[in-house]
Amino acid sequence: MLKRRVLLRIIASFLITFLPTVVFLFFISQRISQHSLTKERDFLYNNLNSLLEHKLKDLDLAGTLPKLSESVYYIAFKIDGNCTDGPYYWLTTDSIYYGKNTSIGDECWFLGVNLVELLEVIRKFNRAEWVILYNRYYIEELPKEFLDGFVKGKVFKDNYVIASMSKQDVLDVPFDTRGYTVYGKLWKKNLVVELPLSDGKGFPIGKVLFIKDVSQIYINFYVFTGILSVYSFVLSLLSFLLLYSFSENLVNRIVELQKLSSGIKEGNFSGIELLKIDKPKDELDHLRNNLVDTTLTICRLLSELEEKNRELQELAYYDPLTGLPNRRFFFEHASLIFEEVKRYEKSLSLLVMDIDHFKKVNDTYGHDVGDFVLKTFACLLRSTVRKSDICARFGGEEFVVLLPNTNLEGAKVVAERIRATVAKNPVEHGSIVIVFTVSIGVSQYRKGMQSIDELIKEADIALYRAKRGGRNRVEVFIPDETAKAQT
Ligand code: GH3
Ligand code: MG
Ligand code: MG
Repeated sequence: MLKRRVLLRIIASFLITFLPTVVFLFFISQRISQHSLTKERDFLYNNLNSLLEHKLKDLDLAGTLPKLSESVYYIAFKIDGNCTDGPYYWLTTDSIYYGKNTSIGDECWFLGVNLVELLEVIRKFNRAEWVILYNRYYIEELPKEFLDGFVKGKVFKDNYVIASMSKQDVLDVPFDTRGYTVYGKLWKKNLVVELPLSDGKGFPIGKVLFIKDVSQIYINFYVFTGILSVYSFVLSLLSFLLLYSFSENLVNRIVELQKLSSGIKEGNFSGIELLKIDKPKDELDHLRNNLVDTTLTICRLLSELEEKNRELQELAYYDPLTGLPNRRFFFEHASLIFEEVKRYEKSLSLLVMDIDHFKKVNDTYGHDVGDFVLKTFACLLRSTVRKSDICARFGGEEFVVLLPNTNLEGAKVVAERIRATVAKNPVEHGSIVIVFTVSIGVSQYRKGMQSIDELIKEADIALYRAKRGGRNRVEVFIPDETAKAQT
């Protein structure tokens, strides 16, 4: 998603940079080409004009009046003072006329300048093709016999008679150029420059078209534009690739970070410390490391919380002094066992124990020794009963053992074993030897009992009897004893 958006922006910036550059280059090179064309046109035009003027000015016209038979052709030129009878008409074979003309007023000789040769010089000088055109209507006004001779074998096009052409393809040239024009195909272009020809009265008799192949200017223009376009394309592409690789790397790293944070969100912390970057080189690396560090801190806090919860649970269910289950633990578990016994009519017994004259132990040896005795007794209890039995410290120096699947007889045996073991094994604490005993009351589940409390109560009654009976004894609850105990 992010990647696509970044890519689109880069492409857009690529186009924004590249396209205007190409347009600009095209515009610049077109201006340059246009300039070259104009220069070329002016060059042709000026050369032609100056050469004509120069040539005509230098001519000793009267002296160089040619003879007809010499078959040389001159551009029309009025010679003042030499007008004689006429009219004479010569429109010469290729391009030019020479002779006597009455149509412009007085009878005048017109001296022809060798236009063909002159043009040829200019053409060669300018490396151009040329074509000479005569206005058809102008020619038609000439005497018929002259006209027939002139137009014979010539090509007509539009309003013109093509009097001279150096190449056949000049027929494709548009004759109405009105100054100058460029024509041709994409790669093959010609510049056409027009030089009007007029008679002595200024009447347009035709024109000379100079045609120059200017393909090179266009080829240069194409090549120049092409090379610069390719150059700017390559530059833009390079910057595009650089930008793309940089932003792709950036986006990939952001996506990785996003994946990492998603993993963290889902509680997937395994191996997270390995994702840390040793030598962060930029803000993204720092961000990643911060994320990992924060996650590690959360992990640590979570495990601390777990530990604390475990400790709390321990405190809630176990006696901190002896490590035995406490009253709460006992009731929660004993109630379940009791329900099962009730349902399946199994046997269940309970021992309630109280250390005899424990106050005296405390008073004689101190509280610490009293604690030690309690711990020792708890150990003894644990080692004497089965794992499936539930021992618990009920409070002070009072303990209970719940014996599932044990009837009264069995329970009595266990109680007697505990009592005897305690009596026979004095506790040693440093140099002190403490002899103590325990009184035990035993009860068993009977049909009709509703809760574990009843079982405890009956065992308590038996315990009370054991105490009254002189202590260091095991007494069993006798069913109709309840009434007696209450009285
Ligand atoms: P009896 O034979 O009638 O049971 O006499 P007793 O002295 O054992 O009975 P009593 O209930 O009068 O005394 C219990 C004593 O147990 C009182 C109390 O100071 C002591 N005790 C209760 N809990 C602790 C304990 O955690 N540590 C120590 N050291 N003493 C405790
Ligand atoms: Mg007591
Ligand atoms: Mg006691």
